[in-house]
Amino acid sequence: MTRSGHEYLESLQDGREVWLDGERVKDITTHAAFRNTAASVAHLYDLAHDPVHRDVLVSGGVHRTYAVPRSYEDLVGRRRAYKVWAESSFGFLGRTPDYMAGGAAGFAAVPHIFTTDTFDGAANALAYHRRLAEGGLYCAFTITNPHSGKGDDDLVVRVVEEKDGGIVVRGAKMIGTGAVFADEVIVGTIEPLAPGDVDHALCFSVPVDTGGLKFVSRTSYEAQARGVFDNPLSSRFDENDSLLVCDDVFVPWERVLTYRNVEATAAMWWQTPAYLNFVHQAATRFWTKLEFLTGLAILLTRAGGTYQLPPVTQAVGRLLGMVAQAKAFVLAAEASYEQVDGGRGGVMPGTEISYAQRIMAGELYPRAVQEIKQLAGGSVIQLPASAEDLLHPEIGPVLSTYLRAPGTAAEDRIKLLKLAWDALGSEFAARHEQYERFYHGAPHVYLTMQTWAGGAESCENLAQSCLDGYGLSLGTGQ
Ligand SMILES: Cc1cc2nc3c(=O)[nH]c(=O)nc-3n(C[C@H](O)[C@H](O)[C@H](O)COP(=O)(O)OP(=O)(O)OC[C@H]3O[C@@H](n4cnc5c(N)ncnc54)[C@H](O)[C@@H]3O)c2cc1C
Repeated sequence: MTRSGHEYLESLQDGREVWLDGERVKDITTHAAFRNTAASVAHLYDLAHDPVHRDVLVSGGVHRTYAVPRSYEDLVGRRRAYKVWAESSFGFLGRTPDYMAGGAAGFAAVPHIFTTDTFDGAANALAYHRRLAEGGLYCAFTITNPHSGKGDDDLVVRVVEEKDGGIVVRGAKMIGTGAVFADEVIVGTIEPLAPGDVDHALCFSVPVDTGGLKFVSRTSYEAQARGVFDNPLSSRFDENDSLLVCDDVFVPWERVLTYRNVEATAAMWWQTPAYLNFVHQAATRFWTKLEFLTGLAILLTRAGGTYQLPPVTQAVGRLLGMVAQAKAFVLAAEASYEQVDGGRGGVMPGTEISYAQRIMAGELYPRAVQEIKQLAGGSVIQLPASAEDLLHPEIGPVLSTYLRAPGTAAEDRIKLLKLAWDALGSEFAARHEQYERFYHGAPHVYLTMQTWAGGAESCENLAQSCLDGYGLSLGTGQ
């Protein structure tokens, strides 16, 4: 059976080096910046023990999202598991353990990608997948450089020493979403490396408490939250992003996946199903998040008494259309599934549709948020600072009188409006907009990739067939 939430929380008390506000955090399970989100991740593990969700989440004693899918039905089963976890945070925890579970399953589907002239990481890639699956482990990833590192070789993660038992690495990576809550972090490079840049061409995965690994957290929205009533999302689902610094970290050979090989360091993401599996998880979460936001819009407009007005009903219709688009991308990626090239009988979501999902989601999310802000008006701003005001014997009854709406008690109305502002307008919300725009790469990368993903030739051929159907002659042509 998969591990429990309690076991997960215990495993976090391992001396990992997390920094926040000039302080080395002793225990993230008790610290005000991390404890509620750690509990939210623990809850995900507990869901696998809940009879309502167990069969959707677990198969053969292992969480379903670690499995290498062999059929369309397996992809559908995996998506159902993604959906249960996504609904648990209303889509606001993006890099839950199921994200890298799909990556590891992608590596295991084509381990020969890791066999190169410079290093044979195939057995390590299979062991990585097995370790994650059997332990139900949470692996975060940092595969983005904070800067090019050009001109100062030690800035981006690279090897500084080779030893009998492994390598010593030094340098930084960004943005470790969820890394402080993870068991392991995989460190690699997804940006194309210059031919011959073998010094930066490596990928490895190590436990988060490995000596010399430092995680420097950004501002914590959980720490800033006044409480669940006041900040219902940021107080519980702040998955954190941290700068990863490798301060001469020793990596045993068995933890190395690619080494001094520019092609394999990129191919592990693009020529395995790993990236497509990432999109499958993310697209399911995105669909769930839009469902949640649209539900919020409906509740807001009902409470505000505007729901029946034709422009408001139409705005809700537009949002529901966005939800359907997000859902359609998931279903279409599954229906257009492909056999894994050179794989061991595995399948993966369709490439063309999966790549297009990134374009759609990055552009749709800010539009959805704007649409709901337009519906929300000024009430989301004119709210008492905290629940303390409502609980106060003198000012509480005043607020109960003046902030109620027809049919809605003040407490219920304030609760809803605070949830809306946390989702749409808080600093946490702004981070989510940036997340949806960038977490799968920048537009100049994914828009270019779409032209390689298929479809261009058939579009061009169709337009050309129109041109080929007529000429200079004055006839009607056919
Ligand atoms: C909230 C959040 C969480 C993230 N989590 C993770 C994580 O867990 N792990 C991880 O590894 N990464 C993570 N990322 C990083 C993410 O993958 C990168 O932000 C993304 O790949 C873009 O890279 P960049 O930030 O370096 O932007 P850049 O590549 O610098 O692009 C920024 C902008 O610069 C312009 N630009 C840059 N180069 C060009 C060019 N050649 N042509 C045209 N325009 C250009 C474009 O306008 C582009 O939008 C996260 C990002 C965010 C925002």
